[in-house]
Amino acid sequence: MNLIIFGPPGAGKGTQSKLLVKKFNLFQLSTGEFLRKEVSNNTSSGKKIASIINSGSFVSDEIVSELIEKIIKNEKYKDRIIFDGYPRSLKQAKNLENLLKKYNQKINLVLKLSVSLDSIKKRIAERKNLENRTDDNDKIAIKRFETYEKSTEPVIEYYKKLNLLKVIDGEGSIDQINKEISDIISLI
Ligand code: AMP
Repeated sequence: MNLIIFGPPGAGKGTQSKLLVKKFNLFQLSTGEFLRKEVSNNTSSGKKIASIINSGSFVSDEIVSELIEKIIKNEKYKDRIIFDGYPRSLKQAKNLENLLKKYNQKINLVLKLSVSLDSIKKRIAERKNLENRTDDNDKIAIKRFETYEKSTEPVIEYYKKLNLLKVIDGEGSIDQINKEISDIISLI
C-alpha cells in the first residue's frame, strides 16, 4: 500500500508518518527531510536549496522528482511508501502518477490532516525549540501556510475526485489522530 499524507506545515504529518511507519512497516518519503539532508551536506546544490527553503518557496520540480524516483524504483520500498510533502501541485501529482505507473504501483489512500492557522502557529513555535529548523518562525509559517493552501488544495480536490481522499481532524491528540488513521488503513 502506498499513501499520501497532506496537511499544512506543522499539522503533524511527520509525527503521524513516523508512527505509521512502525505500525504498518512503511517507508516515509518526506521530501522536506530529504532536502534538509542535502542542505546539511553543504554542497553547492545544498546551499541553493537552503535559500529556497528559507524563503518559504518551493524547490524546483526537477530536483524533487529525481529524489522521489530514486525511492519509487527501489524494490525495497515497493508498495510501502508514505509520501509526506509530495505532491504539492497538480503538476507533481501527475508526475507521481506517471512514475508510479512506470514502476507498476499506485496510490491506495490519501489522508488530509485538517488544522487551523492558529494551531499551526502554536505548534511551529514549539517545534522550533525542539528541532531548531531555520524555516520555523511565524512569518515564514504564515507564508508556508498560504503557499500550502494555494498550491496543495487543488491537488487534494484531484484525489477527492478519484475517491482516494480521507479527511482527518488534525486538532486532536497525537494518539487520537493515529487511531483514526490506523482504523482507515486497516480497512484497506
Ligand atoms: P516540509 O518539511 O514538507 O515542510 O518541506 C520544507 C520545504 O522543503 C518546503 O517549504 C519546500 O521549500 C521544500 N519542499 C518539500 N517538498 C517539496 C516539494 N514536493 N516540492 C517543492 N519543494 C518542496
